[in-house]
Amino acid sequence: MDVEAPFKEIIEELKEYGGEASKYCYQCGKCDTVCPWNRVTDFSMRKLIREATFGLPEVELEEVWRCTTCGKCPDECPRDVKQIDNVVAMRRLATGYGVSNELLRPVRSASASLAAEGNPFVQERANRADWAEGYDVKEFTEEMDILFYPGCMPSYDQRMKKVAQAVSEILNKAGVEFGILGTKENCCGESIRKTGHEDLFKTLARENIKTFVENGVKRILVLSPHCYHTFKNEYPEFKVNFDIVHISQYLCELLNEGRLQINKEYEKKVTYHDPCYLGRHNGIFDEPREVLNKIPGLELIEMAESREDSLCCGMGGGRIWIDTKMEERFANLRIEQAVDLGVEELVTSCPYCIDALEEGRLGLNYEDVLEVKDITEILREVI
Ligand code: SF4
Ligand code: SF4
Repeated sequence: MDVEAPFKEIIEELKEYGGEASKYCYQCGKCDTVCPWNRVTDFSMRKLIREATFGLPEVELEEVWRCTTCGKCPDECPRDVKQIDNVVAMRRLATGYGVSNELLRPVRSASASLAAEGNPFVQERANRADWAEGYDVKEFTEEMDILFYPGCMPSYDQRMKKVAQAVSEILNKAGVEFGILGTKENCCGESIRKTGHEDLFKTLARENIKTFVENGVKRILVLSPHCYHTFKNEYPEFKVNFDIVHISQYLCELLNEGRLQINKEYEKKVTYHDPCYLGRHNGIFDEPREVLNKIPGLELIEMAESREDSLCCGMGGGRIWIDTKMEERFANLRIEQAVDLGVEELVTSCPYCIDALEEGRLGLNYEDVLEVKDITEILREVI
């Protein structure tokens, strides 16, 4: 009995953290069949779930930290085991017990930076709006149509700043009254929550909500599907509901209302990569395609793994901060798929995907073969 007691305690803790549905698993292994990890190495969500049901998750091993929360296996599970909730519960347990290893060093650094500066990149809060210098971007006021919330990567990352700038040009061209909160903006907290830092997520979320309410924000335009998911599906846990619009939806809206006009042709073959948190998690498959299909000359060719079957880029679930071996990167598989299709550009609508795919393109020496673009970067060229 003495031996069993601590495991029972762990089972109870996992339940409390949202891992209760693991008990429904009947070990069919469907999750392992669809998981992208099994294309590059051996990984078993089925095994993790089994260990969790016995109160024995090996939280110090990389296995618990592999899941990118791509959403593929929950869609296939016949018992609704909620694998993502389970793996986040295991990570909360690990974080609570102070599990520390080399793999998690960057997660610790990201969480310290989030707590101190509101971003995970060890950058100063004071520089959050630097991307907008030289662009016509105002501070948000209550009378404006929409708050533009660029999020962390487009605020600080050199590659992604170009996307935030493209958005500001498009919005100005369409005559949208928009503004930003700049240094008052915090990270949405999505990724750090997935690594088990629940308290830090709550702090970031509460501060953001307070800022939104104090500034009279009603409608929020986001670039990242991760911000979209958190604001739309997780912030309501705090009894607030803002109107959240992803940029792909907003572009569609502006084009359909005639506020944006396409004036040029774009004679290129492109393919579109569905980000997990836009597509599988939130069902936004059509709007980005509708935007691309409105551009004359552009030929959209679909990859075999598209829409619900899209291949994860590998950056979700906090993996953005965890180093992945070159030969284990899903983004490299995705780049090969696009190259095999014979397209000139791989287009997407997520900062994490762009980061991973750009790295894959360069790492595989496809600089002269394939370009990686955000959908806004194409639209900016044709309006
Ligand atoms: S698919 Fe569901 S029921 Fe089957 S092994 Fe995975 S978690 Fe268990
Ligand atoms: S959510 Fe995606 S990455 Fe995580 S175990 Fe399931 S299929 Fe694998």
